[in-house]
Amino acid sequence: MHAPSEKPQPCWSCRKREATGTYTHAGRTVMVCATCLDRLEVQEAFEYKGLAIDKLVSRDQYDEVGCIRRRQSPLRS
Ligand SMILES: [Zn+2]
Repeated sequence: MHAPSEKPQPCWSCRKREATGTYTHAGRTVMVCATCLDRLEVQEAFEYKGLAIDKLVSRDQYDEVGCIRRRQSPLRS
């Protein structure tokens, strides 16, 4: 650690404001300002939700495809 402690660290995300807190994502901790910390946390929550919804939707569609296949039985022809 060569950097002097009195020098303020710039925000990892915007690089405009002084970093005031830490944000951990995917095992990596970065220094960010309060504004970016809020934004990143909200963003992460939305992304997580989006993935969960995506999984549910694709599973639903898969079930529907299975039902259609069963209904179109070759015995009817
Ligand atoms: Zn920032």
